[in-house]
Amino acid sequence: MALLPILETPHPMLREISTPVEAVDDEIRALVADMFDTMYAAPGIGLAAVQVGVPKRLLVIDLQEPEEEGGEPVRKPMVFINPEILEKSETMQVYSEGCLSVPDQYAEVERPDHIRARWLDEHGNSHEKELEGLLGICLQHEMDHLEGILFIDHLSRLKREMVLKKLAKQRRMAA
Ligand code: ZN
Repeated sequence: MALLPILETPHPMLREISTPVEAVDDEIRALVADMFDTMYAAPGIGLAAVQVGVPKRLLVIDLQEPEEEGGEPVRKPMVFINPEILEKSETMQVYSEGCLSVPDQYAEVERPDHIRARWLDEHGNSHEKELEGLLGICLQHEMDHLEGILFIDHLSRLKREMVLKKLAKQRRMAA
C-alpha cells in the first residue's frame, strides 16, 4: 500500500491536459492500486492521476455507497482509462461538489444528469454505458481534471473567489 501526495490548487500541473494511456500494463495497474489507497485514505470518492502528479488519462471512482439506507458503506472500485463522453443529456442536475485538490471546500455545480461514456478498465477491456446520478457527476468532475479544469472553474467569479478565500484562511489556520 502506498499513499501518494495529492496536489492542491494552485499547483500548475493541475492545469495540464493529461495524455492518453498507451498501454494498460502492470505499471498502470500499480498506479491504480496506489490511487485507490490514496483516495480511500483521503477520504474521497474520485481521484484523477494528474492529482497525484501523473498527467495521464486515468481516474478511479468508488462512491462507497451503502447497499441500503443507513447501512455500511460498500466498496465498488471503478477504473476509467482514456474515458470519453459520447453523449450528454440536455437536462441538468445540481450537486454540491468537493475536490481533494481544493480541500474541504464545497460548492454547487450544474452538470448534465445523464451521460453516455466509453472507457477502458484496468485489464484493458472496453466499456460503454449510460451513467446517471452521483456516478455520472463524479465521472464528469474527474474527466474535467484530465483537461486541467477544476470544479471551481464552473462557478461564478464571485463564488470562486469566496471558495479560494476560505481555502486560504483554512491554510493559514493550519499553518
Ligand atoms: Zn477533483
